[in-house]
Amino acid sequence: MSDIKQIGHWINGGEVAGTGREQDVFNPATGEVSGRVALASVSDLEQAVDAARAALPAWRATGLTKRAAVMFKLREIVTAKSDELARIITAEHGKVVSDAAGEVVRGLENVEYCAGLMHHLKGEFSEQVSSGVDVHSVRQPVGIVACITPFNFPAMVPLWMVTTAIACGNTVILKPSERDPSAALWIAQAFKDAGLPDGVLNVVNGDKEAVDGILDHDDIKAVSFVGSTPIAQYIYERASKNGKRVQALGGAKNHMVVMPDADLDAAADAAVSAAYGSAGERCMAVSVLVAVGEVADPLVDKIAERMGKLVIGDGFDERSEMGPLITREARDRVASYVAGATDEGARVVVDGREKHFDESGFFIGTSLVDHVKPGMKVYDEEIFGPVLSVVRVETFEDAVELINANQFANGVAIFTRDGKSAREFEFAIEVGMVGVNVPIPVPVGSFSFGGWKKSLFGDTHMYGAEAFNFYTRRKVVTTRWPDPTQSQVDLGFPTN
Ligand code: NAD
Repeated sequence: MSDIKQIGHWINGGEVAGTGREQDVFNPATGEVSGRVALASVSDLEQAVDAARAALPAWRATGLTKRAAVMFKLREIVTAKSDELARIITAEHGKVVSDAAGEVVRGLENVEYCAGLMHHLKGEFSEQVSSGVDVHSVRQPVGIVACITPFNFPAMVPLWMVTTAIACGNTVILKPSERDPSAALWIAQAFKDAGLPDGVLNVVNGDKEAVDGILDHDDIKAVSFVGSTPIAQYIYERASKNGKRVQALGGAKNHMVVMPDADLDAAADAAVSAAYGSAGERCMAVSVLVAVGEVADPLVDKIAERMGKLVIGDGFDERSEMGPLITREARDRVASYVAGATDEGARVVVDGREKHFDESGFFIGTSLVDHVKPGMKVYDEEIFGPVLSVVRVETFEDAVELINANQFANGVAIFTRDGKSAREFEFAIEVGMVGVNVPIPVPVGSFSFGGWKKSLFGDTHMYGAEAFNFYTRRKVVTTRWPDPTQSQVDLGFPTN
């Protein structure tokens, strides 16, 4: 029992123990409890809000070059210690260390973008809008911002949100997933080491009680959320009813279309890594392969063949290409979709439940389900595990129609050698992020990330320019300096 670490909160620049309820944190590769995470009460949350409120005036007034210096230093620290952070992620999430390291790199992109905050926070100026009258705009922080994050990217998603909110001069309360909370505390320490003043970033661990406290708190002015669709919708409705700005990203069902002219080996490689990487627990994982025309049979064979070679095991084992699922319940839930697929009329080509594992962790093999159709649970619901469904369609138009009818619209990809099909696809598809021969089209940090429909509630995407808008209030100043030598000047400018 002595190895079980206690995971508290990070308030006002240091770790603070929890005061009440707790929850187990697991090592998903062994199934053993590795820690106990504090679940914040409303009074724990209040301490964090107090710290964020106290830190706000000074951080807001901190010069932009000093804020940028924190970002540069943070980049240095995270880069130098990225392996340490990756291993923390693997220990609680289960993904293989190389994948965790990739997550850190994608998170760092946002730090790099934010290091350019001098540029991103520039306002606009119009000289002489009327005689002697100028207008300029400025961007000011919104105040205290809350960031509520999911388990599947315990470092990258916090870095998406927190970094930009801080760059804009806000103070922050981060509420990470209670299933893998340690990466968030590591990031808070890294920010402190980078010179961020105490109280600017606070981490409150917890569950619904902490989240509801955030949604109802008068002093928290904006909420960024990433997680499942039902919770995203709940967050959006409750926080916006309370007058807050909200961006709430939800679940996904990402399709990958393979056209008859595509390079089938490249498409099969892409499908396997995009469907089963990180055990399918990526919001941009491919979960439906849309095979157009004759490609289905050869493609299914090629994918099945590659699946047989995938090494599944402990994320710390360098040979592993895929780790376990996050919890026992998640694994059983994934298994239930595969179990139900045959009765729904689909054909299970590879059944991940049949794979045997010596380890007692939350492992399941990869599954491939062919002849899937809308109306089947395996198609309609987000599985969030290593299951790839194949939907067979006759034409390009059928593929577009299928995808546009889906309730989710996070990412999508098309594999083709034909520029015209690719362009038509880009034009017609009702999805937020599109890949052309790129299976997981997560935008680089200089663009913004977000889906459409039930994959996003609100109108602002994460990171990049859209996030600089979300975390700032724009103020417009109209200025007239009358000539003191003239007693009365009619500038001819409307005064109302
Ligand atoms: P989740 O919705 O269960 O949890 C997300 C956050 O909400 C956590 O911090 C959790 O503590 C909190 N939460 C959970 N239940 C709550 C409740 N009833 N009331 C208030 N707060 C609650 O999601 P998850 O399982 O951690 O993450 C996986 C989900 O996130 C998947 O659906 C995945 O598609 C989605 N996701 C989406 C994106 C995206 O960019 N759209 C990115 C990553 C993950």
